[in-house]
Parts: sequence; structure tokens; C-alpha cells
Amino acid sequence: MSQAGAGFAEESKGTIKVAQLYPRDMNIYGDWGNALVLQRRIGWHGYTPELVEYNVGDEFPEDVDIIVGGGGQDSGQLVIQDDLQARAGVLKDLAEDGAPMLLICGLYQLFGRFFETRTGAVIPGIGVLDVETHGTDERLIGNVKVSTPEFGEVLGYENHSGQTTLGSGVRPLGTVPKGTGNNSSDGHEGARYRNIVASYLHGSLLPKNPAIADFLIRTAAERKYGTFVPGNPDDRYAELAREHAARRPR
Ligand code: GLN
Repeated sequence: MSQAGAGFAEESKGTIKVAQLYPRDMNIYGDWGNALVLQRRIGWHGYTPELVEYNVGDEFPEDVDIIVGGGGQDSGQLVIQDDLQARAGVLKDLAEDGAPMLLICGLYQLFGRFFETRTGAVIPGIGVLDVETHGTDERLIGNVKVSTPEFGEVLGYENHSGQTTLGSGVRPLGTVPKGTGNNSSDGHEGARYRNIVASYLHGSLLPKNPAIADFLIRTAAERKYGTFVPGNPDDRYAELAREHAARRPR
């Protein structure tokens, strides 16, 4: 299929299918923007984007190349918990097989071992990530700057009361020169495991951090086609957004 318009290659290099997990219940502070950035950048790289949604009770989409999941209130997490458990097998298999995933806040927590809410209720996670989360009375809120070894400086916005600690099976996405990140004690933000990037950062994350978007796209293309041939993304808006985000106070 060819896509007309500046920045698009004439001939598609192949399809990349992005599945958004639970956008009906888990999609706050603009997290939908992550899926839209992937859709646009996949096109800019000369591939054909296919964006599908998966909500509670849906049939799980086949041949998914990238998974994205957003944040949600504790109430949204309660709504999806049973369905998520029913999909634990397919999501674990995809993760272990190297499928790229971006998991933000509420779904980051539920891809871990468990989330114990402030009231002591335990929402089981699916254990893809070796992390655990405990609800607190402290709300961690504001703009965040993360120093990462893989993606340079990552910028975003956090708003959570759950505090996450990492086990030895994952490594942090980075450390926080500004903001709090995973918890108020160890200075780490997010988690990395295989091709999963998990983070507390909304904003949404990918419009301001195209390096992460391109990691997900490159990994998906290499996994599916054996190689990734990049195109020419237009990063002017991303650069402007980064400049503004970096200037914001905590
Ligand atoms: N309910 C969770 C918390 O407050 C997740 C919040 C979110 O996804 N923004 O920790």
C-alpha cells in the first residue's frame, strides 16, 4: 500500500500492528497519544501502521507487533483485573518472545507481581515484570526528568500514589534528577525487561521522547522482518515539546 504525503515512503516496507490495551479504562493524562505517535512514526519510517484496541471482553488481536498500555485510577485497575489475568498467558508469551511493549503507570503496576492499594486490597498483577507496588497516602505528582543509559534524557509528568520497587529481574529505566519516579526512596524511575519499557510518565510520553518510540518500532520491525530500515521522521514538534517540558518547574 502506498501512502501519499510528505515524509511517507512510496512503497510500504511492511505492516506494524500496534495494540492498545484497555484504552476504555486505562488511558489517562493523554496516554492515548502514545498510540498516535507510534502510528505516525511507523508511517514516517515507511511501514504501514495498524492500530487496534483491546478492551475487557474483546477477542485478543492476532499477530500483534507492539503493545501499549496506559494509566488508570485504582477503580479502572479493578475493572480490568480479571480480564488481564485471563490474558496473562498470551501477554507473558509475547513479552518473553521479545515483543516490544510500552507500559505506563497503572498498567506498569499490573504487569508486575501485585498492587496493594492504600486500603490494603491486593490487585494481583500478571508477573511479567519483577516489581511490586504498594499504595501510600503520598501523591507523587509533577514534572519529571529521567537520565537513562539507552534513551538519553526522558521527560514527562507523574501522578501516582502507588510506589513501586524493582526486583532483581528488571533494571530501572533511569534515575531522576527531577521528580520522584518509582518511589520516594531509591531515585529510580521505570523498569526495563527484554523489550519492555515501563514508566510512570504521562504527558503523553512518546510525543516528547521519540527515541523510545523508535526503539519500539525498530524492535518490532527487526522481530518481524529481520531488519529495520529507518525513514525520515519529522522531529521538529518533538524537539519543541522537549524544550518546553525541560523548562517546566517540578
Ligand atoms: N492508581 C495508580 C496510582 O495512583 C495508578 C495511577 C495512574 O495510572 N496514574 O498509583
